[in-house]
Amino acid sequence: MDHSLQQIELSSALSAMLVDSMGDENSILRAMLVSTDQDNLVGRQPKKSRGRLKFLIENRHGSPFEHATLTFSVHCPIFVSREWMRHRVQSFNEQSGRYVEYEPKFYWPEYRPLVQEGKPGKYQFVEGSRYQWGYAHLAFHASCQTAWDHYQEMLNQGIAKEVARMVLPVTTYTSFYATANLRNWLHFLSLRTTDDRASVPSYPLWEINQLAAQVEGALVDEFPLVMGLWNENGRVPV
Ligand SMILES: Cc1cc2nc3c(=O)[nH]c(=O)nc-3n(C[C@H](O)[C@H](O)[C@H](O)COP(=O)(O)OP(=O)(O)OC[C@H]3O[C@@H](n4cnc5c(N)ncnc54)[C@H](O)[C@@H]3O)c2cc1C
Repeated sequence: MDHSLQQIELSSALSAMLVDSMGDENSILRAMLVSTDQDNLVGRQPKKSRGRLKFLIENRHGSPFEHATLTFSVHCPIFVSREWMRHRVQSFNEQSGRYVEYEPKFYWPEYRPLVQEGKPGKYQFVEGSRYQWGYAHLAFHASCQTAWDHYQEMLNQGIAKEVARMVLPVTTYTSFYATANLRNWLHFLSLRTTDDRASVPSYPLWEINQLAAQVEGALVDEFPLVMGLWNENGRVPV
């Protein structure tokens, strides 16, 4: 590996991509109907599907939603992955800074409002002045470049990756897989999105909200009836 000095890249990319799934809306209905010994009816009464799923969602009978599972490949800065991985019912595997070198790529919040007003739990954000934007960009670039230069120099000197990486900031990009069942993805969305339809509003970090919106888009494609009914019911976790 060439450890000569490299220019860093500032990026605003945030990506959560569906890479695997198991089950569909019939999996949920089958799990529901076994309790009355009617699971053999799944797929044979499509007109009843909506009503049955509505019953489950409105009455918060959540366990049938555990029979569908989705895996997302996520690429984001470390400060976002720290928030995401607080969701303990998900399963994770992440790239290792002990075994591989990081890329010289760091997050820069180009598309979000910069200035916070209000009190904890109920902040409002406003754009920020040209001066604030200019200074923030300078500060992000200079501090990330400095950290990267020291990281590379330590690698050049033969210092272990697991030690050298300790100087890198939380804007360093990481990649991980997150797998969870549909019940937990709904719980995740209820906490990590802001949505007017939510009966209990949440005010998540802007960056994780962008990723959660991508998760939600995939869920709408895979579970259109469930997601429509969940929204009608105020996005309450099941
Ligand atoms: C807007 C916002 C602000 C936040 N601010 C902070 C903060 O300032 N500081 C901070 O530390 N965290 C903060 N968090 C993280 C938050 O406290 C949770 O850790 C995170 O949202 C995961 O939620 P969860 O525990 O419900 O999810 P999961 O870990 O996925 O758990 C899902 C559900 O399983 C059950 N469960 C899981 N583990 C247990 C357990 N040990 N005991 C009992 N039941 C369990 C619960 O019903 C839980 O809701 C914040 C989250 C949000 C959305």
